[in-house]
Amino acid sequence: MDDNVTVQFSRNMIGFGVPDILRPISHRKIPEAAVGPPYFYYENVAYTPKGVWSKISSFLFEVEPEFVDSSHFCAAARKRGYIHNLPIQNRFPLKPIPPLTIQEAFPYTKEWWPSWDDRKKLNCLGTSVSSGKLVEKLGDILQQFKDTPPKETQKYILYECRKSNLVWVGKNKLASLEPDEMELILGYPKNHTRGGGMNRGDRYKSLGNTFQVDTVAYHLSVLKSMFPEGVNVLSLFSGIGGAEVALHRLGIPLKNVVSVEILEVNRNIIRSWWEQTKQKGNLFELKDVQELSIDKLKHYIDSLGGFDLVIGGSPCNNLSGNNRVTRDGLQGEHSVLFFDYFRILKDVKLLMG
Ligand code: SAH
Repeated sequence: MDDNVTVQFSRNMIGFGVPDILRPISHRKIPEAAVGPPYFYYENVAYTPKGVWSKISSFLFEVEPEFVDSSHFCAAARKRGYIHNLPIQNRFPLKPIPPLTIQEAFPYTKEWWPSWDDRKKLNCLGTSVSSGKLVEKLGDILQQFKDTPPKETQKYILYECRKSNLVWVGKNKLASLEPDEMELILGYPKNHTRGGGMNRGDRYKSLGNTFQVDTVAYHLSVLKSMFPEGVNVLSLFSGIGGAEVALHRLGIPLKNVVSVEILEVNRNIIRSWWEQTKQKGNLFELKDVQELSIDKLKHYIDSLGGFDLVIGGSPCNNLSGNNRVTRDGLQGEHSVLFFDYFRILKDVKLLMG
């Protein structure tokens, strides 16, 4: 079911390297056709139906994907592939380094964490709220044992904990994470997803889909010395603005951001973050990548003086993840939007000569 037939995942999924682990690769040759400007950065889930990544790569100028598990950057796993033409030397991590274990991230859990639960990292943060019923049921089971439950029970409890990312909040008491807690792990400002007036379920959904900011920022960090005056960004499928947050946290000024995101709630989040962080640049918010024609691109390129970065992760709903609708692959209703990323990048390259 995985793509590893055509793609070799490095053992720990460290891509071209992560902080604190010996870099296996420090130089790579980018195919001529991929060389910028603009720089581009494309993201999607690592585990896809067979052949998807080789297809994506064949469209994106044969650039080799970099597969990275965000557990090297934060307390949760998130396995993603990135295709980009950024340099890979002299990357640096965002400071402060976020908590790298669950117990560090949520110190209140330490007191209750049983020794038989060996989890240090959360699984890929999901997209839905786990039911209160489950937590209640697990509590009832645990209550039957005075001390440590038998191995079989431990196994079952751990299975459910892993599946729903439950943490220990009291004696025999488990709980699922709150959206605020997911924001912390994913590198967003506290209450980031409240900005758009989203309900709790929608906050989970947006956070389940989004960039892990520290991971992406590590890759984008090389832009800092290249663009001391700031960058013009074309942000496609912006979601809750993971790319914008990453660049801002790196201290790279955002001169102009053209952000394309279909959901109004998400656009509101980006707008309210933009205002709260008192950005000096301009934010242009558009709805649908399918409506971003070459004429519109020309208008922006002429008036802003081109884009330095074209960034985005197109929907993975037909590829993988908990929220997948189907696994139709790249031609699926949502995943097919990859081709809009490709079309737009190609047009930007053409218009920028
Ligand atoms: N990388 C983003 C999230 C990507 S998820 C982040 O860091 O937050 C894919 C996003 O694409 C979702 O937010 C979804 O609402 C948006 N989307 C789906 N169809 C779209 C379309 N036709 N045009 C623009 N955005 C779209």
